[in-house]
Amino acid sequence: MVYSDLSVDYFKMFLLNVPAALIALTLFFFLDDLTGFEITYLLELPEPFSFIFTWFAALPFILWLALSITNFFVKDFLILRGPCPNCGTENVSFFGTILSISNGGSANTVKCSNCGTEMVYDSNTRLITLPERSKA
Ligand SMILES: [Zn+2]
Repeated sequence: MVYSDLSVDYFKMFLLNVPAALIALTLFFFLDDLTGFEITYLLELPEPFSFIFTWFAALPFILWLALSITNFFVKDFLILRGPCPNCGTENVSFFGTILSISNGGSANTVKCSNCGTEMVYDSNTRLITLPERSKA
């Protein structure tokens, strides 16, 4: 029984990258320290060189570093959110591989945080279904 559509929670996926971005920034400034503040020097170049360096070299490098760090811990991650069929509370489910341990397949069983209803979140079809209940 299909209940509802799932949507991708880009905000939470973005948040997942924030710790790595902070680490990347720290590494960047650490590198800056090691190279004798040459990076800071480049950032303080007269315009437009400083602008070009900041946006086309430093920032992509930090972003690339952040993504690499995140990818080291979690792979092919996807965060899906959808409403509970019972009470409408938005529930979030994480799909992906954490430290090379897959969470096992494309469907997650999610228990509503509000009312405890069990749902199945399918990352392939992007649909919420209710599990078949075998009544005793
Ligand atoms: Zn609920």
